[in-house]
Amino acid sequence: MTAKTESVIIFCWFLTTFVVHFNGKLPFLKNITILGSTGSIGTQTLQVIDQLKPAFNVYALTAYKNADLLIKQALAYQPEMVVIVDESKYKKVKTALPKIKVISGKEGLIEAAIADKVDVVLTALVGFAGLEPTIAAIKKNKNIALANKETLVVAGEIITALVKQNKVQLLPVDSEHSAIFQCLEADNDIEKIYLTASGGPFRGKQKTELEGVTRAQALKHPNWSMGAKITIDSATMMNKGLEVIEAKWLFGLKNNQVDVIVHPQSIIHSIVQFKDGSMKAQMGLPDMKLPIQYALTHPKRIANKFERFSFLNYSNLTFEQPDKNTFKCLQLAYDAMNKCGNVPCILNAANEVAVASFLADKINFLDIADLVKKCMSKINHINNPSLDDLFETDAETRKLAATLV
Ligand code: NAD
Ligand code: MG
Repeated sequence: MTAKTESVIIFCWFLTTFVVHFNGKLPFLKNITILGSTGSIGTQTLQVIDQLKPAFNVYALTAYKNADLLIKQALAYQPEMVVIVDESKYKKVKTALPKIKVISGKEGLIEAAIADKVDVVLTALVGFAGLEPTIAAIKKNKNIALANKETLVVAGEIITALVKQNKVQLLPVDSEHSAIFQCLEADNDIEKIYLTASGGPFRGKQKTELEGVTRAQALKHPNWSMGAKITIDSATMMNKGLEVIEAKWLFGLKNNQVDVIVHPQSIIHSIVQFKDGSMKAQMGLPDMKLPIQYALTHPKRIANKFERFSFLNYSNLTFEQPDKNTFKCLQLAYDAMNKCGNVPCILNAANEVAVASFLADKINFLDIADLVKKCMSKINHINNPSLDDLFETDAETRKLAATLV
């Protein structure tokens, strides 16, 4: 046998093995860091990874203070590194995981995001805390699966420029944005987009009815099971406001191209209207596992066993105009987007403090919008903020918001 024939045979064998073994699956192993693995998105990401085995290897898991769940996850997935931000929990985690590198403090998040072996960073932590590790990851050429919408709300311009500069992918996990992303796959002459909103637990209520609502009522979302902060954001409709800003940056849209339509069944996850008037919508059950999976497997679609939608269970899909007078946070987010600069950062920081204060029973539900509005009017506006300006704005706003609680 000549050397040439031999190499042809080896090549054919390799090709057959490749096709048989990986038919419809992802052939290459990717190392993933999950920032915020103990939360709602983090735990669902691990369920998705279970289905995608062996395409993903969990490289690092991180949590703020839920040591018990972090330990359980680490024992199951054997990552190379775990990060527990709360330093008082370090000893407990290290003792339980003697063979795994354990880091505490928020610098650990950056280390987990930029490690050489990491291919993808899924950002499932809450709030402004997601900004620094996401920037560090992009600068180290890691692809980002983005759940942490606050990153784009606060620093959309800086992040999208960094993504271009470093030629990385920024793939949306948020269901509405994943919907738009999927609709744009073969077609991108956008006229406008509609983000759908469930309307949250208080849809249809008037201001007077919202005065005495409790934390428990606000935490009861009709369609989605999510972390506490985003659930309260859904009740105030700030979540949709944050998503409007997120969408502007993700898809490079003008402010007037992003609209919101209330769709209480949460089956249509969002809609693109193209310049000839044609519309595409992406639909499915309200289950975050699907957009998480697509962010991890894009551009492939991988078979899974998630529950399927049945038309017969939903004979009515309905649509309404959002009530921006009652749900002022949605209007405030539009105002912040229009004012631009550091104003979305002010909106975000004030909202984070307000939501935490509402969850701690320190302010009423309607105070959330008032507090955000006051901060937006009192903190100095900056037109083209640098990253340092944004960190300063965030700190200053939190300080002011705390005095207003
Ligand atoms: P969650 O509260 O359930 O989980 C948050 C995770 O981040 C936890 O692991 C927690 O330990 C960690 N964390 C919290 N604060 C941190 C900090 N300061 N530093 C480091 N780690 C911290 O939240 P979630 O509902 O999973 O949401 C996560 C992100 O995804 C948010 O930005 C949210 O808006 C977005 N998102 C969530 C959903 C959903 O269905 N839950 C849908 C779309 C987008
Ligand atoms: Mg969403």
